Amino acid sequence: MKAVAILSGGLDSTVSLAAAREEMDVVLALTFDYGQRAAMRECDASRKIARLYRIPHRVISLPWLSRITDTALVNRRAALPRNEMSTRSAKAVWVPNRNGVFIEVSAAHAESLGAARLVTGFNREEAATFPDNSGAYMRAVSRALSYSTANGVRVVSFTGRLDKRGIVRLGRRLGAPLHLVWPCYEGGRRWCGTCESCLRSLRALDV
Ligand SMILES: [Zn+2]
Repeated sequence: MKAVAILSGGLDSTVSLAAAREEMDVVLALTFDYGQRAAMRECDASRKIARLYRIPHRVISLPWLSRITDTALVNRRAALPRNEMSTRSAKAVWVPNRNGVFIEVSAAHAESLGAARLVTGFNREEAATFPDNSGAYMRAVSRALSYSTANGVRVVSFTGRLDKRGIVRLGRRLGAPLHLVWPCYEGGRRWCGTCESCLRSLRALDV
């Protein structure tokens, strides 16, 4: 079974990719640059992870996406959430239909390569705040793709039922390159350690 993976270079997509490799032939990893603060870091981490796994890697630029949103992920004047996930902080980092766009663009790549699976890094924790991370969305979008792709591309996630701690455990068991991930919303030299995504990842990594 051939698969294409969406790889942001964060914890979830990296571990989901590591798990996918156990049972699928991952023929391409895609990273999206939509002008987010961490774009360079995410592309860099993803490139290293893909290289380690000997998977071809491509960066897809979506410059228009940053132009139609004011989210703190792209707007450097807006404040990033510095605490645990809440509805308010979810709003601050929401990008219009981001996962929907990522999935549709990636599904086109998957179909063109004869890959019937699209691997994402959805997880249980974020599904609670972000509906586009949920199993229900994965099933619904797979159903839509059964109409729009000739080979019926299906969206899967090997981390969908796990929280961050479970994802770290799975990653360690699979020997995933957790030392290469970039979960931070910022694009500094190191993880900022205080943004919501850093806090979650650091807590799960127990460091
Ligand atoms: Zn951070």
